[in-house]
Amino acid sequence: QAQAAQRYRSAPAVTRDGVRIHVDLNIGGVTAQALDGLDCVDGVGLFRTEFLYMQSQTLPDEDTQFTSYRAALEALDGRPLVLRTLDIGGDKQLPYLELPREDNPFLGRRALRLCLAEPELFRIQLRAALRASVFGQLRIMFPMVGSLDDFRAAKATVVKAQEELEREGIPFRRDVALGVMIEIPAAAMIADLLAREADFASIGTNDLCQYLNAADRLEPGAAPYYQSYHPAMFRLIRDVAVAFTAQGKDLCVCGELGGDCAFASALIGLGLRHLSMSASAVAGIKQLVAVLTIPEAQEAARQALSTSTAAQAEEYLRAFAARRT
Ligand code: PEP
Ligand code: MG
Repeated sequence: QAQAAQRYRSAPAVTRDGVRIHVDLNIGGVTAQALDGLDCVDGVGLFRTEFLYMQSQTLPDEDTQFTSYRAALEALDGRPLVLRTLDIGGDKQLPYLELPREDNPFLGRRALRLCLAEPELFRIQLRAALRASVFGQLRIMFPMVGSLDDFRAAKATVVKAQEELEREGIPFRRDVALGVMIEIPAAAMIADLLAREADFASIGTNDLCQYLNAADRLEPGAAPYYQSYHPAMFRLIRDVAVAFTAQGKDLCVCGELGGDCAFASALIGLGLRHLSMSASAVAGIKQLVAVLTIPEAQEAARQALSTSTAAQAEEYLRAFAARRT
């Protein structure tokens, strides 16, 4: 079965009825291993830049970051790269960055919130990213956006960095798309508002599931409550897909569920045309796409939406995908 999937690995993903599904890679750095999977994907849908910071003994300076971002863009040779700005806090800490202790770090000042509170940290990353933009198709995405205020503040910081580079005569591309991660339920519920102002979005199902179910994604005791197939997940993702489709803006899923064949069947049925995943999931998803038609996927989504428990939805979708892969 795995061998059969490998046959699909390098070809573009097209459904049996001819709809193109963009299959992107999630990467955590620019090591040879990370870039290895790039030959068989449409782009990078999630570059988790915090790993550059976590693997370093000191805060990576602008040139160090620029070099990594440029390397990733060059490796992609014109295909899009979604660079997610620093997502630190929560479970991820930096030894050289002293932060106040929080009782509930996942509900605290993590990711974009931290970057907005530490403007110098954010400024350096944005400058490095913008400088790299001339080497390919860069898109910048902000993690943990919870409101329009968050997105507007992030965007204003990008504009400021652009003005700085302009004054210094340093080249950058002006058409860098700016997007949001949809991983806080409040952001999902105002997807229509975000879709008007953001250029694109990506649903982070790992955190969305955690916050929607109020179940810590790392806490074994909460695992039974971390229900990826909860009816609330399907309803919320459906609404986000409707909002972004209505605005004609790209919407991706870059959480683990994007690479889960059972869940992805429903995602395609809900209108998703971009899925970003770890390298190990690519072949399986492409195989699934090849045998699927859009009406079948829509039927899978309808069934998932009409079930009343996570267990029912998961059982249905697992059987649906198993019959096809
Ligand atoms: C997510 O939350 O789904 C996501 C892709 O981001 P991370 O797993 O890095 O928090
Ligand atoms: Mg996340």
